[in-house]
Amino acid sequence: MQIRSAEFITSGRGLADCPEWELPEFALIGRSNVGKSSLINLLANKKLLAKVSSVPGKTRQLNFFRMNGAWSLVDLPGYGYSKTAKTEKFDFNELVGDYLEQRENLHHVFVLIDSRLPPQQIDLDFIAWLGGVGASFTLIFTKEDKQSAAKTQATVTAFQASIPPGLRCSPTVVTTSSLTSTGRNEILRRIEEML
Ligand code: GDP
Repeated sequence: MQIRSAEFITSGRGLADCPEWELPEFALIGRSNVGKSSLINLLANKKLLAKVSSVPGKTRQLNFFRMNGAWSLVDLPGYGYSKTAKTEKFDFNELVGDYLEQRENLHHVFVLIDSRLPPQQIDLDFIAWLGGVGASFTLIFTKEDKQSAAKTQATVTAFQASIPPGLRCSPTVVTTSSLTSTGRNEILRRIEEML
């Protein structure tokens, strides 16, 4: 699929702020710094569509981008562990939970994972939650240019082996690099298939 247009439309602070449109939405989520903004820019082929920032936790809103006038990329705030809880508890913005559970336009979720790290419990917890609400999703292993292909593959294999049993579907995997564009065509092809 060629991207002919990519526009930022609006930010939502609640489900009520989400655009009233019929467009199918493809959401991206991951921990801060995983490369989400860079991936949005890569998919859109626009350097500054999503502001790339190394400041963790910068975004607390849902950001909607309209692609080719026909579908939407939705940039979701990341997740973390609640620091206020006595025991560390998996936590994310309530808005993200509402969106993923209730938004009718949501077609698919891309969960971004840093390809350089061993399986992180927080990513596994999130995936278990996502599977529990019945969302369909793909795992995106980012920053694959930072290491050898063999190391990236080892991360993917280790991650898949750690996925909690009992997920309704076994998620598919794409590896990406925002520097070399690896994975761009594959993601766009998958989106096209789902449209
Ligand atoms: P976000 O917080 O998830 O939106 O992450 P960003 O897109 O802002 O990226 C965080 C940092 O990682 C920035 O310094 C990016 O330049 C860098 N980065 C993101 N994607 C890649 C990638 O594919 N390869 C490399 N080498 N660096 C990346």
